[in-house]
Amino acid sequence: MIPASAYAAFDPQSPLKYWDFERRAVRPDDVEIDILFCGVCHSDLHAARGEWGEMNRPFVPGHEIVGRVAAVGDQVTAHKVGDLVGVGCMVDSCLHCSDCEDGLEQYCAHGMVGTYMGVETGTGKPTYGGYSSKIVVKDHFVLKIPEGLDPAAAAPLLCAGVTTYSPLRHWKVGPGQRVGVVGLGGLGHMAVKLARAMGATVVVFTTSASKIDDAKRLGAHEVVVSRDAEAMAAEAGRFDFILNTVAAPHDLDPFIACLKRDGTMTLVGAPASPHPSPAVFPLITKRRSIAGSMIGGIAETQEMLDFCGAHGITADIELIPIQAINTAYERMLKSDVKYRFVIDVAGSLAKG
Ligand code: NAP
Ligand code: ZN
Repeated sequence: MIPASAYAAFDPQSPLKYWDFERRAVRPDDVEIDILFCGVCHSDLHAARGEWGEMNRPFVPGHEIVGRVAAVGDQVTAHKVGDLVGVGCMVDSCLHCSDCEDGLEQYCAHGMVGTYMGVETGTGKPTYGGYSSKIVVKDHFVLKIPEGLDPAAAAPLLCAGVTTYSPLRHWKVGPGQRVGVVGLGGLGHMAVKLARAMGATVVVFTTSASKIDDAKRLGAHEVVVSRDAEAMAAEAGRFDFILNTVAAPHDLDPFIACLKRDGTMTLVGAPASPHPSPAVFPLITKRRSIAGSMIGGIAETQEMLDFCGAHGITADIELIPIQAINTAYERMLKSDVKYRFVIDVAGSLAKG
């Protein structure tokens, strides 16, 4: 076993605190990673506070991991000691079902193993996320971070990046299309950068009027304050595609009204309780769709990282020591993140 340390949630209410634990010994197809940085996803907060149901405690969040390879098993050829690598939301899957064979490990018929809230194959132990000094991961689930990207600002690509890239690609977003991004947080600001780089006309829907200038700086062509009913009405029927990243239950109807005939709104936000049921008539009278999407497969995650490498895209981050994680969660709940917290794991965890 490999000694490791982490910040963990011991119950849904208490602040996260320091914890010593162990990672599994390196198997022939494993990569051992010294974690440098870990992004802070709203999913970490939902999970730590038990909003998605209870799980094993202590719970170690974190699935936007960037680090350096410290050791590899005998069978590993794709990665070597010293490489800068990433780990996202998955650390295992069956790799044999039709979903895995299609490169969609996140939809594995037998269930993907989450980087946290998962059960480790072989040992049956809980998986522990990236708010930790080290992680040991099967080589297939380890990504290469392109040279030239700042490692800290690249960490959020591992979840926020791929979770927005995958639906933008699946629904074929590109030039000539008007695309909406609902919610300018971690996922939303990545969606703006990616959809812009794919050539679409990008419109941000935000509840925060204070984010208008930032949205434009990040690449939005236009910004609509979604609490302004008049501004929303002016957008009716104008959108080919809308990506909804909001982390809280809300009325979907005003956004559905913005879709053209045959337009789709894809939900990636995963709030603790459901959105109010949408009205049926706005859907049937324009053949509009509501869809969902979860992260992205491993090949697609590497494709996204390479796309970001080629376009110089990373997250806008606020680097924090791990000791500031509980304050960061409180700020995230107030939509006060510009636009992703990233934990300086290597620079702060050793201080306890
Ligand atoms: P985040 O940084 O907190 O951003 C969410 C944004 O939603 C906020 O910045 C805010 O934007 C808006 N918002 C928040 N509360 C709202 C409310 N009550 N009404 C309207 N808008 C509100 O969160 P994130 O890390 O981007 O994650 C977003 C959601 O996606 C979370 O639920 C997370 O669990 C989920 N997620 C899903 C996947 C997947 O695979 N599907 C992957 C990762 C994360 P404005 O200030 O601009 O309104
Ligand atoms: Zn995430």
